[in-house]
Amino acid sequence: MRRSREIRLADRPTGVPSCRAFVAADVEIPEPALGEVQIRNLWLSIDPAIRGRMYAAKSYIPPFEIGDVIASPAIGEIISSNDPLFISGDIVLSDAGWRDYANLPAAEVEKLPPMDLPAQAFLGIAGITGLAAYAGLLRVAKLKPGDVVFISAASGAVGSTACLIAKMMGHKVIATAGGPTKTAFLRDALGVDAAIDYRAEPNLRKALAAAAPEGIDVYFDNVGGPCLEAAIGCANLHARFAICGMIAGYNVIEPMAAPRNMTLIPAKRIGMKGFIVFDHLDLMPAYREKLAAWHGAGKLNWRETVVEGLDNAPQAFVDLFSGGNIGKMLVRLP
Ligand code: NAP
Repeated sequence: MRRSREIRLADRPTGVPSCRAFVAADVEIPEPALGEVQIRNLWLSIDPAIRGRMYAAKSYIPPFEIGDVIASPAIGEIISSNDPLFISGDIVLSDAGWRDYANLPAAEVEKLPPMDLPAQAFLGIAGITGLAAYAGLLRVAKLKPGDVVFISAASGAVGSTACLIAKMMGHKVIATAGGPTKTAFLRDALGVDAAIDYRAEPNLRKALAAAAPEGIDVYFDNVGGPCLEAAIGCANLHARFAICGMIAGYNVIEPMAAPRNMTLIPAKRIGMKGFIVFDHLDLMPAYREKLAAWHGAGKLNWRETVVEGLDNAPQAFVDLFSGGNIGKMLVRLP
């Protein structure tokens, strides 16, 4: 038996979640059964999607029950294997969630691909996060040469990858984020053409129109609400919107007021399509091949926010909703 600590859902919060929604527990983990591996987690992915699973309502993925360990992608090391495909020391990707140790069926565990990237990058730019940006821009929004691209929550994990990809493909990019540190990051590190601090900007549509007087052709939405309203207002005819997420609405108690200009959607023939990255996993090999080439050419300038220790995972999650991260939010376990 091995002692392990885990973080569970304690309560379904109303409004913006706090750490009180979570509780830590100590458990004992037996030796792995036949066909299982035992994993020591090294890195945890901290994702806004966890918020959706804290509601009781069914979505594209089932809700957590009270008392469930918070499931999330994780990078770990195999410390004991009862399966011929894995040996101790293998570094793997799994959905082991917020805990120190886990026994998982070997079929649910994946060795990291042989890419010259740090292991935790497979939770961010080289994982599902990066694929969401790639699939959203190329397959959902059908990015084409000359498109002017608008990206919201652009300093976050998905948004910053979308900025990198769109800039590497030669597009004009306008990006929003909260606060001057983030807008400086967008301009200086990611090379976007204009960065708008949505918190300081009294009229987002006017600011977007000033940054893109020619209008926008593609909107990569991570936020919804006022950002979506600004995008509709500035959209060109036949603009394509890839709706990746709507974080402005994840904690609302009353329905959001914006966007108030939905009637422009038919007038401008805007194509608006929501997507879930898991429907686009077939693109992962092609995406990683491109990523390797961009990395080899020294063009990948990605960022991570690293929080130390399992007990700080709830706070790291809560901080997503007040903009506490630049790039992927990760928890490192000792
Ligand atoms: P993230 O962007 O790294 O972190 C969340 C960021 O959202 C925060 O840093 C904050 O930045 C911003 N934010 C929080 N509350 C906001 C609000 N009320 N209004 C505007 N911005 C707000 O997280 P991520 O993992 O990359 O996810 C980004 C979006 O993509 C989320 O909507 C997520 O649900 C979605 N997503 C979807 C898929 C899919 O398959 N469709 C996959 C992954 C993620 P600021 O400081 O700029 O406010």
